[in-house]
This record gives sequence, C-alpha cells and structure tokens, in this order.
Amino acid sequence: MEPTNSDILIIGGGVNGTSIAMALAGRNPGKITLVEKGGLATGATGRSGAMVREHYLNVELVRMASDAKIFFEEWPKEMGYDLKFQATGRILLFNESDAGAAIANGEMNRTEGVNIETLNPDKTMELIPLANLDDVKVSLYEPEAGHADPVATTYAFAKEAQKKGVEIITRTAVNDLIVKGGRIEGVETTTGKINASVVINVTGPWANSLIGKHDVPLPITPIRVQMVHLRRPPKLEMLEQIIIDHTCGAYYRTDGTPNTLVGGEAPEDMLEIVNPNAFGLNADHHFITRFWNRAVNRFPDFADATCRGGYGSLYDMTPDGNPILDESPNISGFYNVAGFSGHGFKLSPVTGEMVADLVTGQSKSPHDYTFFRHSRFNENSLIIPTRPYSTRVHQ
Ligand SMILES: Cc1cc2nc3c(=O)[nH]c(=O)nc-3n(C[C@H](O)[C@H](O)[C@H](O)COP(=O)(O)OP(=O)(O)OC[C@H]3O[C@@H](n4cnc5c(N)ncnc54)[C@H](O)[C@@H]3O)c2cc1C
Repeated sequence: MEPTNSDILIIGGGVNGTSIAMALAGRNPGKITLVEKGGLATGATGRSGAMVREHYLNVELVRMASDAKIFFEEWPKEMGYDLKFQATGRILLFNESDAGAAIANGEMNRTEGVNIETLNPDKTMELIPLANLDDVKVSLYEPEAGHADPVATTYAFAKEAQKKGVEIITRTAVNDLIVKGGRIEGVETTTGKINASVVINVTGPWANSLIGKHDVPLPITPIRVQMVHLRRPPKLEMLEQIIIDHTCGAYYRTDGTPNTLVGGEAPEDMLEIVNPNAFGLNADHHFITRFWNRAVNRFPDFADATCRGGYGSLYDMTPDGNPILDESPNISGFYNVAGFSGHGFKLSPVTGEMVADLVTGQSKSPHDYTFFRHSRFNENSLIIPTRPYSTRVHQ
C-alpha cells in the first residue's frame, strides 16, 4: 500500500490528543492526522472521574486549571457542545496533620482569584450534615467546581478538529516509529505507513510502548487504579457535592443521579504497576471493601448503600505526578505529551494550546510549556508543591 502523507501526526485519541488536534488546527500548520488504536476516549479518558476544579498547590497549575474551568463553563454556550459540566461544588476535608497546609494553600488559591473558602467543622457540617467530621480540623470549599463528561468532551474536541480539516483515523494502531538519522519521518500503522515530519505521542499509559527501540523510556509508569459504584440510600441522596477526603485519600464523585463513584489516591491505592494492554478492568473485592469502609467512616449512612461493582483503569504516573510536554532530546520532530498522573482531564483545554505553542514555536498560550519539560527529572527541579498534603500521591 502507498504511504499517506501528513505534516503532523498525533498518536492517541483521548481528551489530550483531540484537544491538541483542535488547537493545532487553529494555527494552520498544514495537514494534521490523528490515529487512535480503538475508538475515541477509550483509554484513561473514558474511565475518568472528569472532575473540574481550580484548587492546586502550585501557582502555575492553579492558573491553568482556572483557565480550563472557564472553558468548561463557556464553551457549551459559545460552541453548542453539551459537555455535561455540572458545578456540584467540591469539599476537601483535612485532619490536624494537613490543616496548616490546607489553610496556606486556600490562601494562595484565593490570591490567584479562585473562589475557594476555608471552613471550620461547624461550617462544613452545614454543607454535609450527615458526615462524621470528628477528625476534621479544616475544610476547603470550591462552590464552582464540578464534573463533566469525558467522552462528550473528547468527541467535541474531535469534531471541532475535523471541522478545521484534521483527519481522524480510529481502530488503527501505530506499530512503530520511523526514525532516520535522529529525525522522525513517520509511523508504521496496522493499515500502512504515514509519513510525517512531526509526530506527537499522546498515548498516556502506553507512552513508552512506542518509544522502545528508538529512545530512552520516559519516566512514566502505568498504575492501575480502581473506582467503586455505590448507589446511595435515600437518606444520602442529597449528597451531591464532590468530597475529597484528605484524611485517608478517598474521593466521592456523584453524577447527578443517586450514584456515587468512590475512588482512592492514598499511597496504598496506587501500588499496582501493570501492562496497559492487560490489566483488570473490574474492581477487586478487597478494593471495594476498602473504599466502602472509608465511605461508611465518613458518612455512616453509606452502610445502607448498594454496591454496584466497580472498575479498574490507568494513571500514567510520573515521579512528580505531572506530565511531560516536550520534544524528545534524541529524535527531532518527535514530541511526548503524556504522564498526566490522574489529573489531566480538567487541564486538557489548556494543554492543547500549550502543545500547539511547543510544536509551532508560537507563544499564543499564556501558559509556559517549559514548566513541564522532560529534563526536570534530571535537573533536580521536580514540580513539588511548597505545602503538599500527606495522604495523596498526586496533588
Ligand atoms: C479513574 C480515573 C479518574 C480520573 N479522574 C480525573 C479527574 O477527576 N479529573 C481530571 O482532571 N483527571 C482525571 N483523571 C485523569 C484523566 O482522565 C487523564 O489524565 C486523561 O484522560 C488522559 O488523557 P490522554 O488523552 O492523555 O490519555 P488517554 O485517554 O489514555 O488516551 C491515550 C490514547 O492513546 C491510544 N493509543 C495507545 N497506544 C496507541 C497506539 N500504538 N496507536 C494508536 N493509539 C494508541 C489509546 O487507545 C488511548 O485512547 C482520571 C483518570 C482515571 C483513570
């Protein structure tokens, strides 16, 4: 079969690959092709909690998340896409050991313009009267935070990209990179060769699969994480806010129905390194029990919930829990955009524009992609918060 030609080839049709496709297409850099081995949003994106918040522990990430939140609020009105964003509010609970960090981080976020309140337990109880807050010393409350639909968001990005001329090819895997003399020349796919002088690897947990024989592996580890569905009993149906329980690493994400998705990001919840092509897609019994017990400890009425199982998914973890947005130091024209470590959904509208800057050499985004340079892992300049929380792997 004759090879096809493209100027830019994007590998991966998750929320980040499609956002990059849309952003690049707005810059007219020539022909853009996106290749996805399954359907769009069938990787980590489709199983995401898709929570949208501004609270972060680094100023740069707060600013990115704030701009991205505006996108989720405004884009449906401006562009007519239903991203199913619901501003449920988000409450973060802290015990004694993280109370000082929470107060300081709340202050920093407010200075950056985030609508976030610092609450004592009495005020928190007014928001979630059925919670047991005995161990809670302080809370942060983001009334404008919420969640969107990750599949709808990805398809919206893809549709906008297609309108601007991007070709999207699904059910086609990239099998290998074509590298000659230290330059990328294209890729081999399951349906033939595609020539391209720029290739962007946006394959999340699979990011190292393609690099193999051509480049040093990225510091990205595929970690299996699990989510558990609890149908709340009638007494708890009014619990619609997202709760992030920093005392134990649990989080609770409702979806506008009486169902709550319970996740965990304590260190012991994130120990399972897996092959991204062969991992448990359902939740394990002992994780269901662990997460449900945490839910009952915080909201005793969860003891009357109905468990509807759960699922396994993947985080593409880096050592500092933040992504790499960079050109390969060894393959000219080959870019890696991966390692979002479980928090890349909300940032995706902003990430697309940052990567468009990186690839085109333009500076249209207010956010600096060099913050996420690959070399930070060797320069002893990891993205570490000034005031981290003790129970979370990523912040
Ligand atoms: C359980 C869970 C909860 C989460 N909750 C949140 C949250 O609340 N808020 C938030 O901001 N983020 C959250 N995240 C993180 C967020 O979902 C991810 O960071 C984001 O979706 C990653 O998108 P991506 O496009 O980079 O990767 P992916 O969605 O994984 O996309 C990569 C794509 O590459 C494709 N691919 C791989 N190899 C090849 C190949 N060789 N050829 C062609 N295609 C290939 C895959 O099929 C896949 O579709 C969560 C993630 C999980 C798993």
